[in-house]
Amino acid sequence: MLLKGYRKKISRPECNPQSQSIVCIARLDEDITEALPYLNAALAGFQYTREPPSLTIRTGGKRIVVYPREIAINSVEDEEDADRTLEWLREKINSVWEKRTEIQPRFEGMSRPKMMDILRLLPKSNCGECGRPTCMVFAAQAVEGGCGADDCPPLSGENRTKLSAYLGQFRFEG
Ligand code: SF4
Repeated sequence: MLLKGYRKKISRPECNPQSQSIVCIARLDEDITEALPYLNAALAGFQYTREPPSLTIRTGGKRIVVYPREIAINSVEDEEDADRTLEWLREKINSVWEKRTEIQPRFEGMSRPKMMDILRLLPKSNCGECGRPTCMVFAAQAVEGGCGADDCPPLSGENRTKLSAYLGQFRFEG
């Protein structure tokens, strides 16, 4: 097991203590530098940065950054949510590290869908049928894997097929 434990700290941004946005920082007991390129290869949706080495993922409304000795999570709901997210990451880090001989490490960031490419294919009527106020909001969520072609009822024909194929090129972490 590579990552055995961590020390967690929960805080609200100092500039706005009333903010509902809770930040969680976990100081890792072990250095996981060598595991980062394997995680980048094995897990979908991460953005890898070489210098300083880190992986970033946006999922479930959170922004998670994994550094060699620290994990930073923005917008956690509460302490339980932070614990769940950290344990999910610890399990992923350790399982990928155990299988590293079967994984080709990846040192490049995974490409992501572009918001303007998505918006171009949407009807741009801002009808709200998808439950979002505008097509722009829909496109922003689609970039993160939060919605797809099937979630826009008025989208049909060639553009529906194109959007489905375009988003199908990317894998998103659930
Ligand atoms: S349902 Fe489609 S067209 Fe209507 S707001 Fe949502 S994305 Fe735009």
